[in-house]
Amino acid sequence: MEHADLELPEPDTKDWTWTVHHRCPECGVAVGDLTLRQVADLTDLAARQWVEVLEGDDVAALRARPHPRVWSPTEYAAHVRDVGRVFLTRLDLMLAEDTPTFADWDQDAAAVEGGYATLDPRRVAPGIATSLGAFAARLRAVPLGEELRRGHRSNGSEFTVLTLAQYFLHDVVHHLHDVGHPLKV
Ligand SMILES: [Zn+2]
Repeated sequence: MEHADLELPEPDTKDWTWTVHHRCPECGVAVGDLTLRQVADLTDLAARQWVEVLEGDDVAALRARPHPRVWSPTEYAAHVRDVGRVFLTRLDLMLAEDTPTFADWDQDAAAVEGGYATLDPRRVAPGIATSLGAFAARLRAVPLGEELRRGHRSNGSEFTVLTLAQYFLHDVVHHLHDVGHPLKV
């Protein structure tokens, strides 16, 4: 399959920070009342379900875009894997510094640079398990009383450790919905 001519997906310019406060009408998930511990547990659950998706029998379907401008399940998975890495960096920064501003991360550039469209889903599976597992483990290690430490995105959005974790979980779960495997709890 030739990937060089693939169109880029629509850039995701939506600000999703509202998902911390309201149930998402698309994936049905409400994260706003979850504790750090609950977010950690659900992140681990979602990681296992992502691995199940990526180990599905129909590899061709896992690599196929449902529409030229919509990511394949494998591309979404690679995105989620990298979101885990980026958010772990942000979490560590919030715990190390007072009210840091996060470095920008261009998810569409990351998809091109990371060759998401050429990846083997079997190889993304361990990456997603490691990335999400590390984030969940770090959440469990946040010292008592530190969950309200703050940080900013460069666009001004403010997060606490808790809302960053909630936001992250929604992203991970929303993309399971995107690939047709809503989180089973
Ligand atoms: Zn959602």
